[in-house]
Amino acid sequence: MAPGQENPLVNAQRQFDIAADMLELASGLRKILRVPQRELTVNFPVKMDDGRIEVYTGYRIQHNITRGPAKGGIRYHLDVGIDEVRALAMWMTWKCAVVNIPYGGAKGAVVVDPKQLSLSELERLTRRYTSEIGLLIGPDKDIPAPDVGTTPQVMAWIMDTFSMHSGHTVPAVVTGKPLNIGGSQGRNEATAHGLVYVLREASRHLSFDITGATVAIQGFGNVGATSARLLDEMGATVIAVSDSGGGIYSRTGLPVADVLAHKARTGSLSDFPGADRLTNEDLLQLPCDILIPAALESQITARNAERIKARIVGEAANGPTTPDADAILYNRGVFVIPDILANAGGVTVSYFEWVQGLQEFFWSEREVNAQLERVMVGAFQSVLRLAQERRVHMRTAAYLLAVDRVARSTVTRGIYP
Ligand code: NAD
Repeated sequence: MAPGQENPLVNAQRQFDIAADMLELASGLRKILRVPQRELTVNFPVKMDDGRIEVYTGYRIQHNITRGPAKGGIRYHLDVGIDEVRALAMWMTWKCAVVNIPYGGAKGAVVVDPKQLSLSELERLTRRYTSEIGLLIGPDKDIPAPDVGTTPQVMAWIMDTFSMHSGHTVPAVVTGKPLNIGGSQGRNEATAHGLVYVLREASRHLSFDITGATVAIQGFGNVGATSARLLDEMGATVIAVSDSGGGIYSRTGLPVADVLAHKARTGSLSDFPGADRLTNEDLLQLPCDILIPAALESQITARNAERIKARIVGEAANGPTTPDADAILYNRGVFVIPDILANAGGVTVSYFEWVQGLQEFFWSEREVNAQLERVMVGAFQSVLRLAQERRVHMRTAAYLLAVDRVARSTVTRGIYP
């Protein structure tokens, strides 16, 4: 969490409290679900290329494992803090429950800027971090995946390190792996695909066609860039995109294929020719049909929510909108598809990858996407129905569904001992 930012854990707990109140959750259940179950902090050495030793801090936090093994990504970012990881772990519990897959929630992180490391330093850091969190992770215990700053290659090193310690190959210990070591077709694009499915449902609900809609996207990594490509291919007009260095804008639409090629070639968006520059803050306030925050937490807050002009906010990022901003957007009629629904395509195909790995039986990309569409559309419609019945916004409806599922599972299992 960068200095001066909102605390994501406080926001995650406020979101939970709203649902817990409406569900009239018993106070014991509230106490259980409001905090993470297990937290591991590790400080570990890495030998750098020049012979120096650096010590890095990492975390692995399991919020809840009532419904199955813990599941959640690993983030490499310089500003990441323990409360952020706690919040991200909690959101994973609700996300898995919204799409009804048999997982609990977890998250991991290392405080590091991976861009500052050489490839071999990144590999040593990843392998040592994997060893340090080895007591928590495992194919039926806790299964990491990629998040901000980590890639399929990082997942491959985690899988290999865990396998070396186990004495045999354990592909199901991570998801988001490269295809040639047990990854799933469609996993790289899964979060963006899932987002596009629910955006399509939302635009139908609001009676406009996603083909021809204007779109602004904050964050141009795995999720943001893939969403830009998929929406462009569907005929939507992507008018602005940004990364940590700022954004680019064209009122008539960006040539997305060229922007992707430019970003791949130069690593940045800022000097893309023929487009106007804009800041990340300005991007959020552009008049457009669909706004996609696909970077970090707490981007839409009470400070700027009045100025959001989009009809739909599709939360590809985790926690981009604060509870204060939620209320403002709802009153202004902005339709927010909350993170625990909108970006659940990633964990859903991670689940498919885990199932395929355990069965050693792999599906085609068409089968993966068809199953993903079924899950995402089903979850969207369930949340929308609940939002209409209870007259609440989509986030509260998604929480009502998720928290109720986890609470009921807790009651069914009972409290040990
Ligand atoms: P990534 O590392 O591939 O990309 C992150 C992007 O955000 C980069 O373009 C980076 O430049 C940009 N960024 C970083 N700081 C920024 C800032 N302050 N302002 C604007 N842009 C900034 O990460 P990703 O996997 O695409 O994840 C993006 C978001 O989606 C995160 O919130 C993540 O938790 C969430 N998410 C990812 C997945 C997944 O499968 N990868 C699944 C669910 C949710």
